[in-house]
Amino acid sequence: MSIIAVFNQKGGVGKTTTALNLLAAIGQRKQRPLGIDLDPQCHLSHIFGVQPKAADESVYSFFVRQRPLDEVAQVTASGVILCPAHLELAKLDTLLGKGVNVVTRLRQALRAPGATPGPVVIDCCPLLNVLSLNAIFAADLLLVPVSADFLSLQGAEQVERALNALEPVFKQRLPRRYVLTRYDMRRRMSGAVVERMAQILRPDEICVTRIRENVKLAESPSVGLDIFRHAPGSRGARDYAELYEELLGAGLLQ
Ligand code: ADP
Ligand code: MG
Repeated sequence: MSIIAVFNQKGGVGKTTTALNLLAAIGQRKQRPLGIDLDPQCHLSHIFGVQPKAADESVYSFFVRQRPLDEVAQVTASGVILCPAHLELAKLDTLLGKGVNVVTRLRQALRAPGATPGPVVIDCCPLLNVLSLNAIFAADLLLVPVSADFLSLQGAEQVERALNALEPVFKQRLPRRYVLTRYDMRRRMSGAVVERMAQILRPDEICVTRIRENVKLAESPSVGLDIFRHAPGSRGARDYAELYEELLGAGLLQ
């Protein structure tokens, strides 16, 4: 069972889109995946139509009062199991701090014997806070979307620095893959981003699959659907299916 954290300290790079469609791709071919929304903005929960009114019905209660994850998990219409977020998650840093026991809480829960049968995909918020640290500590793989624009490259460099700073704690290089999103070959900027990524990142840590700019991908959250249900014949569906196959083929998705 793989635990994948979709992480980037930059917002708007395609984290939620990637988490949503990776969950959907896994759900179509494998046992039920578990999605965990760790963004107080609750975008992923919103797309899945799961919006708990009380913080206690979200992952907030897992962190604050150690409520088991399966008590807040919900089976969504598409069959994905989701632990939803809540706005109150924004208060966790103040409430909990960043002690070792706190940042390893998710890891302990997800890695407990019999915790969850399927792969786990965690949608992170654009900050290196207690929530993201929990995701990083729990993950077998960090999947880092980088959108094809200049500021996003700075985000990727920031991610490298943050992960490298954490490495002494892990005593190993954290497994990671960068995936280019919103790629448009007609735009010169996209080509420049590809070149620069190859300079600043390790080539074997950049996904071969590129997620192209696709209007269907932008549209699908507004109708509460993943790309395979919204537009199965679209480029977006093809690209996310390819990303799934690439991760599977590399042994990063079990
Ligand atoms: P993040 O979670 O990193 O903030 P999102 O996944 O919410 O980013 O994406 C930001 C915006 O870009 C959203 O409106 C989303 O629909 C859109 N988007 C993401 N990927 C693509 C893509 N490949 N093509 C077109 N629009 C995209
Ligand atoms: Mg998001």
